[in-house]
Amino acid sequence: MKKQWHLITGVEPGSIAEECGLEPGDRIGAINGHEIEDFFDYQYYIEEEFLSVEVLTRDDEECTLEIEKEEEEDLGLAFESFLMDEYNSCCNKCMFCFIDQMPPGMRDTLYFKDDDSRLSFLQGNYITLTNMKEKDVERVIRYHLAPINISVHTTNPELRCRMLHNRFAGDVLEKIRRFSEAGIPMNSQVVLCKGINDGEELDRTIRELGEFLPYMESLSVVPVGLTKYRDDLPKLDAFTREDAGKVLAQIQGWQKHFLEENGTSFVHASDEWFILAGEEFPPVDYYEGFGQLENGVGMMRLLISEVEESLTQLAGDDREKTVSVATAKLAYPTIEKLAAQVMEKYPNVHIHVYCIENTFFGEQITVTGLLTGQDIRKQLAGRELGDELLLPCNVLKADEDIFLDDMSLSELSEALQVPVNIIQSEGQDFVNKIISM
Ligand code: SF4
Repeated sequence: MKKQWHLITGVEPGSIAEECGLEPGDRIGAINGHEIEDFFDYQYYIEEEFLSVEVLTRDDEECTLEIEKEEEEDLGLAFESFLMDEYNSCCNKCMFCFIDQMPPGMRDTLYFKDDDSRLSFLQGNYITLTNMKEKDVERVIRYHLAPINISVHTTNPELRCRMLHNRFAGDVLEKIRRFSEAGIPMNSQVVLCKGINDGEELDRTIRELGEFLPYMESLSVVPVGLTKYRDDLPKLDAFTREDAGKVLAQIQGWQKHFLEENGTSFVHASDEWFILAGEEFPPVDYYEGFGQLENGVGMMRLLISEVEESLTQLAGDDREKTVSVATAKLAYPTIEKLAAQVMEKYPNVHIHVYCIENTFFGEQITVTGLLTGQDIRKQLAGRELGDELLLPCNVLKADEDIFLDDMSLSELSEALQVPVNIIQSEGQDFVNKIISM
């Protein structure tokens, strides 16, 4: 394989790299004779005390820098991309893939199917392990990259190949065993598809993953999300209220088993199951530290407890304000109840809570994080919005004021003729944003 030269884009003032004369525009290719594939190789090899760094200068000249430093001391370099490599995309065609169910014409990055073990460690992404070669497994073990978050879906090899549409997808338990033997902490996830990997198949998956406790730390079970763009995809049915009740009972049975055997409930149902089944969210303790929040496990309970905690610390008063809060179908009943609690403490604060239906992806998509600017604009036009409209932060692209459909917050604000502000995920911010004058 051709040596990769990694472009330096920043040199920290006063750092070893600056002392050595490295500058943005130079590139590094190897350290102590080891070629650098990505950030993890770089981090690993710069820990040595004596470094021999192969550099390709801005003038296209190759040279070697000899560096002596404290062990584990950083060189002070920044590179073109954080990962120092291209992201690996997936080689599956899962029957439930959300990306395959998106309408055409959205921004290109939304169609990128990443499945990169390095992002699992860096950003908590869930990966299928299907594009990990032996050398990647060995690197995870050598660098002890942890935790690894794994989209398992089923431990039945034939079924997994079918669900992921990948004939190499059946060896997931073998890879999990390797990580477990190396002491790598893992979390796992199942996207449940009705009549496919539920029922006895789900029992098998839970049982077989549970055998890897304590290294397999948790398993979340989330229902498949079905958009209206599934014309050329395998037919999948939505879960009903009755189905959701059965799935919850099944998971609760396993939780009892694991609690008795291992002292942890291990497997968790996402919030959607409780809402669909019409059941109350369990108490805070049930979620064992909220380790599966990113899969929607316990988000609602956490929000409720944070709002209640925040309200107990406030005396309440007679300030006057009218605001509106928009949310999607799944969170709507909870947000309505929380708004009522705020109004009880602040009787002159009026909160309109609006439920936005997802016509963009289809009515079966009920999570707030998949609402678009155009649905919010259309459904709130002409409604009473008060002094400001508040939206949860997950309707926006991370760190940007842009909705999934590329509408900006300012465009929405202009269209609705009202200031639009964002509520951060914490319950305290929910209360503060509503009552702030
Ligand atoms: S692994 Fe499956 S669900 Fe994930 S992006 Fe690839 S095809 Fe889609």
